[in-house]
Amino acid sequence: MIGVERLKEIELFRDLTTDELEAMSQICEVKTYEAGSVIFKEGDEGKEIYVVDEGMVNCMIHPTPEQPIVVCTRTRNSLIGWAAMVPPCRYTATAKAEEKTRVFAIDADQLRKLCDAYPHICDKVMQRIVTIERLRQTELFNGLTTDEVELASLACETRVEFVELEGEERLKADLVFIAIGTKPNTELAQNAGLDIGEQKGISVDEYMRTSDPDILAAGDCAEKYSFFTRKPIGLRLASIAAREGKIAAANILVPKWRNEGTLGVFATVIGDLAVGVCGLTEDQARKEGFSVIIGESTGVDRHPATMPGAREVEVKLVFDRKSGKMLGGSVCCAVAAGEMANLMAAAIVSGMRIEELAILPMGTHPALTASPFSTHITEAACQVLSKAGAI
Ligand SMILES: Cc1cc2nc3c(=O)[nH]c(=O)nc-3n(C[C@H](O)[C@H](O)[C@H](O)COP(=O)(O)OP(=O)(O)OC[C@H]3O[C@@H](n4cnc5c(N)ncnc54)[C@H](O)[C@@H]3O)c2cc1C
Repeated sequence: MIGVERLKEIELFRDLTTDELEAMSQICEVKTYEAGSVIFKEGDEGKEIYVVDEGMVNCMIHPTPEQPIVVCTRTRNSLIGWAAMVPPCRYTATAKAEEKTRVFAIDADQLRKLCDAYPHICDKVMQRIVTIERLRQTELFNGLTTDEVELASLACETRVEFVELEGEERLKADLVFIAIGTKPNTELAQNAGLDIGEQKGISVDEYMRTSDPDILAAGDCAEKYSFFTRKPIGLRLASIAAREGKIAAANILVPKWRNEGTLGVFATVIGDLAVGVCGLTEDQARKEGFSVIIGESTGVDRHPATMPGAREVEVKLVFDRKSGKMLGGSVCCAVAAGEMANLMAAAIVSGMRIEELAILPMGTHPALTASPFSTHITEAACQVLSKAGAI
């Protein structure tokens, strides 16, 4: 029989009491498999679940009978054969001992009976089987070790209450966003001997040509250069990838279309709070050495303001004091924020100056936009001119 102390080391049984562990130990049987032997086969009726005690097991699927694909490798304390507990109770992979392997085999019927006697076991063990296995099959967790997946599963099961900062300061939180950034996958390009840039993307010129002029690169894998400074920047977005793809396609035969640089245009919505940002923020513009002048406008996005669905919208525009050209802008809070950020992008790439923006032709409708006397973007530009004494 397997001792309770040993079972306590297994993450699957983490929440069981000593009594429950003792009951579990009664239905665990030690089984040993020689290297190369099959523990269970894909498609077979699932009769047992297993925890690896010693050794190594490869789980494989067989898209074709000749070419098995190893989907995961399991070592000490890992669970295999969980499908025996989840209808239709057929194994979803073949488990093969890669070296001499010892497992704890738990009969699925006996485990179900134990669950009847100890509902807490059912809650805890089944919840962990489902969470761990579902995470393991999630692309986001590919490449994590068993311990890391199990750690992630703890976070998925419980509700966040706070974030602990270094120094033990705690910030109360209901929801946490983790910004992990992106890393271009340039393995293929590196193997082909192409140059890699400062921001780890494939180096490209303004025609999207790599260091080998017969190879073009576009999208997340390609290096991005700022529209304003031409410095390498870390932006990676689908909108940028699609635009670069068009440029690269136009240049396949001869270099025709130029990429004038990357302009970040973002929008997002959380609940009913939508925000849009385009180009440089005030802070970024100052850091890049621009002398900036700011225009702001606040007002409702319908007219009159009593129209159903009217929302207060704030717009902030950043201009280069010297040239009068727009460098960036941000908008909060209407659903139109995404399209307003896109309009700002058009103003920036066309080199529009403050006074051109102040009189930009804008269509309006009471149920769809702000009043013709206060469309936010033109208003913010007017505010700059008014501050400068130009109007
Ligand atoms: C959660 C999330 C949300 C996002 N939301 C937005 C958003 O709202 N707006 C926005 O603009 N962007 C968004 N993005 C970013 C956007 O998804 C990417 O910028 C965009 O998909 C990049 O497109 P791509 O074609 O360059 O690369 P991908 O979409 O990554 O496509 C590359 C393809 O190449 C394949 N591949 C890689 N190596 C090889 C190889 N050696 N052989 C064959 N195939 C290979 C990959 O499997 C993949 O299918 C988001 C990204 C994430 C992760």
